[in-house]
Amino acid sequence: MRICLVSAEIAPFAKMGGLGDVSAALGKYLAKNGHDVRLVMPFYDTIDAPELNIRPVARARRILLKMGDKTYELDFFKTQLPGANADVYLVGCPPLYERGAVYTTDGDEHLRFAVLTRAAIELCKRLNWAPDIFHANDWHTALLPIYIKTIYGYDKIFQKSKTVLTLHNIGYQGIFPAETVNDLSLSAFYFWFDSQDLYRGKVNFLKNGIRHAHKITTVSPTYAREIQTETYGAGLEKLLRQRANDLLGILNGVDYQEWNPETDVFIPFHYSIKNLSGKKKNKEALLKKAGLSTRWLQQPMVSMISRLVEQKGIDLLMGAMEGLLRRFEFSLVVLGSGAIRYEQFFFSLQERFPERVKFFRGYDYALSHLIEAGADIFLMPSLYEPCGLNQIYSLKYGTVPVVRKTGGLADTVTLYDWQKQTGDGFVFEHYNTESFTWAVEYALTTFEHKTAWRKIMINGMKKDFSWEKQIKEYEKLYENLMQANDED
Ligand code: ADP
Repeated sequence: MRICLVSAEIAPFAKMGGLGDVSAALGKYLAKNGHDVRLVMPFYDTIDAPELNIRPVARARRILLKMGDKTYELDFFKTQLPGANADVYLVGCPPLYERGAVYTTDGDEHLRFAVLTRAAIELCKRLNWAPDIFHANDWHTALLPIYIKTIYGYDKIFQKSKTVLTLHNIGYQGIFPAETVNDLSLSAFYFWFDSQDLYRGKVNFLKNGIRHAHKITTVSPTYAREIQTETYGAGLEKLLRQRANDLLGILNGVDYQEWNPETDVFIPFHYSIKNLSGKKKNKEALLKKAGLSTRWLQQPMVSMISRLVEQKGIDLLMGAMEGLLRRFEFSLVVLGSGAIRYEQFFFSLQERFPERVKFFRGYDYALSHLIEAGADIFLMPSLYEPCGLNQIYSLKYGTVPVVRKTGGLADTVTLYDWQKQTGDGFVFEHYNTESFTWAVEYALTTFEHKTAWRKIMINGMKKDFSWEKQIKEYEKLYENLMQANDED
């Protein structure tokens, strides 16, 4: 299949969050399965050019793109997705993308990404390459389905192209004043946009993308259901319910080349299901790194690695952690940064329990691997979680997750059952201190039963959330869309 994937972020060129990782992984694993996949993103000035062998595309130079009353000159560049047989095209447009940042709060943010969206389509024309699938991601490129059906509606080359829009985070929708539609060169196609929004003086990129994409995906099956409800829908629930037949949740995969305790280059001791002894040695290394006494080696070590924002359920820790530390013998290691009040909470917890609590403030990729390898229990009590990666890493590392039953957490972690000896974590349902406390207590008390604990660890370590597996779901989706094409 020919797949054109358009995204504001593609790792390692640009990565602000999960979007960058998932875009790159989709490209990599689709290419691995033999598809002709080409990725398109902006040529931000934050991209480190020299080492990446970025070269101009002769057939796509000095392209003039008219957007409303402005005209932009585009120069396309090409490079390779590391470790994959897939081309990444970078849209060069210095006035838009040379701002020292991937995202801005500038007045033309809508244009930066509308230009990207159209640029991807223009590029395909210049290359005389007809994608079977255009795959757009989040609000930035959500207008792709509209452009394909309007301005490019009569282009023969795109007659059979289908569009997929993936929702990585519906918290960001790209909402701008209604006049913006003129900047997009879509003023002749007002009726393609949500009329009530326009009446209220705004235009919502993501919403309009959801209205017109052939298929919509999000990053876990549970989240796909949740966003159709008022609690999780961020105002889009009604529309998402209307499009429920075309909405599909596909769990993100993880890269087990990077996250595997048998081969991890960031941890001092490797271990596996067959030989778990390295885990305790990693715990000792982590205790030392955290400046905590190794007398905590025999007690459970609880951990967390997270952006410190409301979404991640830090408020539950604020309500529960002190009481838990007073009632149970365990150590706590936290890595993260974010909202000041959450950082202050962890600093003050560390002050009150200096011999048992360590807060690493900041972002540290290597340390995040050591924590996954050394800790016994991993906390992820999110308020909402489209997919979540850390709980999946934790399963692989035998670091038993304590999660709230929401989004991707509900799809990846199963509550341990004493009777049946099944399950791989501790799952609670209601977002309150009592439920969270119950789950942590359950984990801490189970830890004392060595045989049961070992079983839980191994159950989790056996699970497979590899991209090799998940990519098949996307292939199936594309194939179904193309079949629909043949039947047209
Ligand atoms: P989200 O994308 O909402 O932040 P995910 O669990 O999907 O949550 O992904 C977060 C990723 O960022 C994980 O790979 C996690 O290990 C990493 N991460 C988050 N905070 C830190 C940190 N302070 N240091 C290192 N890695 C971090």
